[in-house]
Amino acid sequence: MAEIRIKELRKRYGLGSENVALDGIDLTVRDGEVMALLGPSGCGKTTTLNLLGGFLEPDGGEIWVGDRLLSRPGGVVPPEQRHMSLIFQSYAVWPHKTVFENVAFGLSIRKVTRFEIKRRVEAVLRIVGMHQLAERYPAELSGGQQQRVALARAMVVEPEILLADEPLSNLDANLREEMRFEIRRLHDQTGITMVYVTHDQAEAMVTADRIALLNHGRVEQVGTPEEMYRKPRTMFAATFIGRSNTLEGTLIESGLVECGGVRLRATADQELPVGAKIALCVRPHDVWLSGNGDANHGGSVSNHLSGRVLRQIYLGESRDYLIEIDGGAQVRALTTPAINHSVGDQVELKLPVEACRVVQL
Ligand code: ATP
Repeated sequence: MAEIRIKELRKRYGLGSENVALDGIDLTVRDGEVMALLGPSGCGKTTTLNLLGGFLEPDGGEIWVGDRLLSRPGGVVPPEQRHMSLIFQSYAVWPHKTVFENVAFGLSIRKVTRFEIKRRVEAVLRIVGMHQLAERYPAELSGGQQQRVALARAMVVEPEILLADEPLSNLDANLREEMRFEIRRLHDQTGITMVYVTHDQAEAMVTADRIALLNHGRVEQVGTPEEMYRKPRTMFAATFIGRSNTLEGTLIESGLVECGGVRLRATADQELPVGAKIALCVRPHDVWLSGNGDANHGGSVSNHLSGRVLRQIYLGESRDYLIEIDGGAQVRALTTPAINHSVGDQVELKLPVEACRVVQL
């Protein structure tokens, strides 16, 4: 079993409180799952990965894999005994070795027979689609192909766990998009447990089964890509993953908030006290504008508002509106291009209750 359990993990660099990198991380990565560590620069993703890999010692907390305690203050199982492989953003393939030799190297130092090396290298090169380029040198490969070699090299030693630190960030945008699907496919073929660091939410959504959103050295929320998008629990989660309108206000009663003098029905996943300062989050594409037709929101209960168009941008596949609603707050709405209002027009809006999420401020 390669289930990873991270308990109350703490790490600081130096002494000051401003040097706290991890402030008590709790996270379980299930056997065979891809967990993305997502978050802004400096939130502690790489530190977490380096602690997982055994390259750093924690100041507090524990890391378990199955029933093995791998890290605690004063006791770190060294990287080579952790059954983990690591891939970085720089592919770090050896320029003077062929693709085959690059991938075979990790096995040759493990005293695997030549026959077995050939079999395993060929199998893993086939998985990453590089078997026909086995005799090439890195200089004869594209960036994406070099990253595939790095992936093959990490996989060939059959690790229990693959740790990936922004593995696609050196690739151009098109290739990066293609490689996301490749990495997911590779995982689905091998079933390996993966921890995947990225600051790119789209990359996390494509590659991961679940996402752990980190902020200031803590786990803000964990969930499937859909849960993270549809049910953000904090303002940070709502605005980091996808775009969101956030209307600040007060909780009047369960499921009812007041924002800028306007009362709105909303859905909450957490019990909050009456009077709590809250934000109501609603995605721009969930905001219904008059002229949409009722098809999209047939049957759903909505808040009805009126407003005035402040800005309208035609984006080809959609229109992006900025609307001033009753009470003075501003709301973005993303509609089909057929909904065509001009700046200054009065419009009716509907905010479906199910799409209005309450988060504590
Ligand atoms: P990025 O996306 O920019 O790589 P990250 O989420 O991976 O960021 P970490 O590299 O884990 O963040 O850094 C977490 C915090 O620890 C940051 O505030 C960073 O400045 C600090 N930090 C990281 N490495 C060191 C170090 N070797 N010495 C001192 N501070 C460090």
